[in-house]
Amino acid sequence: MFEAIILACLNQAEDVCRAQLLPGYEAEVSEDCQARLQEAPPDLTRFDGLVFKGAPTCEPIGAPLSVEEVAPGVFVHLGAVAEPDTTNKGDVSNMGFVIGTSSVAVFDAGTTRWIGEGLWRAIRAETDLPVTHVILSHMHPDHIFGAGVFEEAGARMLGHAHLPRAISDRQINYLESLTRLTGAHSMIGTQAVTALNPVTDGQIIDLGQRQITLRVWPTSHTGTDITALDEETGTLFAGDLVFDAHLPTLDGNLLGWQRVLTDLADIPAERVIPGHGGPVLPWPDAAAPVLRYLKVLEDDTRAALDEGQRLSEAVPNIASSEADKWELFDVHNPRNATVAFTELEWE
Ligand SMILES: [Zn+2]
Repeated sequence: MFEAIILACLNQAEDVCRAQLLPGYEAEVSEDCQARLQEAPPDLTRFDGLVFKGAPTCEPIGAPLSVEEVAPGVFVHLGAVAEPDTTNKGDVSNMGFVIGTSSVAVFDAGTTRWIGEGLWRAIRAETDLPVTHVILSHMHPDHIFGAGVFEEAGARMLGHAHLPRAISDRQINYLESLTRLTGAHSMIGTQAVTALNPVTDGQIIDLGQRQITLRVWPTSHTGTDITALDEETGTLFAGDLVFDAHLPTLDGNLLGWQRVLTDLADIPAERVIPGHGGPVLPWPDAAAPVLRYLKVLEDDTRAALDEGQRLSEAVPNIASSEADKWELFDVHNPRNATVAFTELEWE
């Protein structure tokens, strides 16, 4: 199989380049890929901050992202349980796709353009069907910034009604910090999608004899959380409402998240794909460790407030009994404790 690529370099540093995938020109033989490029050249004006060198060429298909088929027609990629860095190049979150008889839906698209491209290739290795929908679980950069390649390929971007505003408020900060953490090379071609379609609670996506049910949740992990259930196999894509191994990170509402997880546990799914860790766990059992941590966070915070502790005194002790139960505890627990303290202080 062949695909179209072009050498993309940074405007500000023209020696920092990578071969960027142009989706939709895949073909069994190079001549067909080239003929399609002639017929319908790619629109390269959409990329800010890039210089393209030479014309697009057709090359043997590049490396796909590794995926695992966790149920018939349901594929998942396991991201590293780590902070984004120059080694993992941002590959730190889970994502997946579901194949129907007429189209494919993607759930989350990773941190960067190169990860989205790898997911695109993993899909092309399984099916020729079009990717019609990309469901973006929430606003965090490790779940959304790989989606651009799918938007170029014609997929609809779906998210919470608050997602467009949340992304536009934060994207400059997110992209700057990711560039600092993963390096400029890893981020080439990475940018926010341009058109997001708000989803409604209970909305169904039909992939052809296969339905995906979307749910929209009140503020919990963030203010933009949605989930997707593949009805055929009972596979729940939970985004960051469910964490495994990786300490849950609180960027929304502590009490709200506990309520949402309790409701989510009533969804009759057999398995869940968490946003981090796993990548496949039994449902609803996988909700229990997250609920336990959030409850400890709540109880310890209330105890500190009852004692009249100040934030700086309280934070090092809140949820310390959970330290050896999670990875990245020291990275994220102080912020979680701060968010919890601030939320419960004014109750
Ligand atoms: Zn998140």
